[in-house]
Amino acid sequence: MPEGLAFMKIYNTLTKKIDVFASLRPKKVSIYVCGITPYDTTHLGHAFTYISFDALIRYLKFKRYEVTYTQNVTDINDRDGDILERARQQNISWSTLATFWTDKFLGDMKALNWIQPTHYLKASENIDSMVSLIQKLLAKGIAYTGNNSVYLDVTKKNDYGKLSRLTKERMLKKAKEFEEDIDNPDKRNPLDITLWKAIDSNQPSHIPSFDSLFGKGRPGWHIECSAMSTLSLGEQIDIHGGGTDLIFPHHEAEIVQSEGSTGKIPFAKYWVHTGQVFYKGEKMSKSKGNLVMVSSLLEKYSSNAVRWLILSHHYRKRWEFDEEKLARAQNKVEVLEGDLRDGSEEEFTKIMDNDLDTPKALELLLRSKNKRVYDVLGFR
Ligand SMILES: [Zn+2]
Repeated sequence: MPEGLAFMKIYNTLTKKIDVFASLRPKKVSIYVCGITPYDTTHLGHAFTYISFDALIRYLKFKRYEVTYTQNVTDINDRDGDILERARQQNISWSTLATFWTDKFLGDMKALNWIQPTHYLKASENIDSMVSLIQKLLAKGIAYTGNNSVYLDVTKKNDYGKLSRLTKERMLKKAKEFEEDIDNPDKRNPLDITLWKAIDSNQPSHIPSFDSLFGKGRPGWHIECSAMSTLSLGEQIDIHGGGTDLIFPHHEAEIVQSEGSTGKIPFAKYWVHTGQVFYKGEKMSKSKGNLVMVSSLLEKYSSNAVRWLILSHHYRKRWEFDEEKLARAQNKVEVLEGDLRDGSEEEFTKIMDNDLDTPKALELLLRSKNKRVYDVLGFR
């Protein structure tokens, strides 16, 4: 292994342990992080995920890897409830709504000084890649059609479930929570994955459909990420990321779809998941009404302060938002900003190589005031 690249370790959800990181190709890293469903504004939970991965990517670059990074936008999927329902309520088209909130998200992330992904792909603009992946799964006999829709038979792959390692009962419970259509009579098994959802004969006019070999319809959420990952990064990737809540069913489905179509294992060598952000004792979520918006934080605090607050929590741990901590972060970055100096990055490297320990790296930065470390962590 080239000098300086050795010994980075990262927790891998697939192996359930901290693994030594070794990329599939020398000095190159491919990374895919599941993006937003754009029908609402960016909250701190989103920012925690994307800034944690931003820190990982910046650190990999510091370690002289060439990083290719894809993030997607789920601007269309098989669900009736999110974007489509919101657009219907507002009496605008789904694409207008999606473009508006995607632009807002990008504005918020830019304000937080994130590195723009190499490929930022909208599902609605990459339908062909999904259709051809579904075709492959049909040809391999893993997928089947039912009433013009296409489903993946999860029982055809005996390693299905290897990422989440959940019992069938837990899978069914979670699938229900995620509004997977487990009671769909066209499915052979309740956990089968919807790859293509055919247009319904009495479908309301606000629901769009796309042409395909299987007839008019729209792709399932899970197949989108398998298709756009392969399209932009190839059949096997180094790191696949997202929030912990995506492990099942979304990431489990991606594995079975991607490995099922290519026969190449693993689809992603390292599965990296970020913890959830809580506020007022509950997970930050729209349904609980406890969202903290990035844009409102940035009205009162600097981008460096918000980034500091995020990186002061280890990416894998759940944490509770506390505005007092953000105010203290503001003071810390203001002191640092005018007092940076040159120095060694040796200790920083040791800390970050240990499963990206950004909280410790910030403590070190406060002591060392190292300009290079400040830059690598994405402060400006
Ligand atoms: Zn995804």
